[in-house]
Amino acid sequence: QKLKKGLSKTREEMGVKINTVLGAYVKIDDDLLEDLEDVLISADIGMTTTMTLIDNLRETIIQNKVNDPSQVMPLLKEEIKKAMNPSLNAEIETASPTVILVIGVNGVGKTTTIGKLAARLKGEGKSVIIAAADTFRAAAIDQLKTWGSRAGVDVIHHQEGADPAAVIYDGIQAAKSRRSDILICDTAGRLHNKANLMKELEKINRVIGRDFPQAHRETLLVLDATTGQNALSQAKTFNEVSEITGIVLTKLDGTAKGGVIIALQSELNLPVKLVGVGEGVDDLQKFNIDDYVDAIIE
Ligand code: GDP
Repeated sequence: QKLKKGLSKTREEMGVKINTVLGAYVKIDDDLLEDLEDVLISADIGMTTTMTLIDNLRETIIQNKVNDPSQVMPLLKEEIKKAMNPSLNAEIETASPTVILVIGVNGVGKTTTIGKLAARLKGEGKSVIIAAADTFRAAAIDQLKTWGSRAGVDVIHHQEGADPAAVIYDGIQAAKSRRSDILICDTAGRLHNKANLMKELEKINRVIGRDFPQAHRETLLVLDATTGQNALSQAKTFNEVSEITGIVLTKLDGTAKGGVIIALQSELNLPVKLVGVGEGVDDLQKFNIDDYVDAIIE
């Protein structure tokens, strides 16, 4: 329900407009498909994915000898679900012990996501520790401490400017000695300096691999849905500097650009695992392709 509510603007941008197009035609022709294409592109699905979708839809329409525009919607929904690579695993790793590395540029909702995730996992009965390794911003450390104390989760931190890998190292020692289930690590997200970012993430990954080899791994990239196609290009860049196992798309509430999820899963083959639909602690939802497509297109 929360997902559906969060996606209401995207539904207006996409589902409602698709229905308007379909209602304006008496038979299926190239003009109708072109109008559909325009709707999908303006709904932030991206050029590449839209082209593939429309080509596949045209094929299906021909194969099934469909003439009536009112029959297009279920076919389009199926094509969208197929384009999203349903085999992608949307579950986040929580076997004990797991290190969840959280990456993404500043302002996308990284800190908030870590707070919500820590509270959710704690609520599921897991013991959780947060390592505040975004040492670039003092505010990030303070914010995590606030989220941590609210959720009853310890936050391992150093001073602003400290070596992020050293914070992660301390986090690992704490997680090992307390036999914690999950260690969530914040990181700094300075995308404008790709070489530095890559070096920092490599160093962090090296420390985890060396000192916590038994841990399961999850690397979540946090993206801001309100930035639409820019989120897609951020994902491409981060995908070059680090191995990503899942995406968290924040701020879906209040944006019409929720169609970008289709592009993320289709173009980059990365599973969206969680979505943010508000600022509250309960506003982090598990993602599921069927629920999503049903919510944006009715
Ligand atoms: P960071 O710089 O990436 O750590 O970003 P923050 O976690 O500080 O979040 C930036 C702003 O976005 C804050 O005001 C958050 O409350 C807000 N925010 C984060 N996630 C969501 C979300 O899912 N929905 C909404 N509406 N706001 C969010």
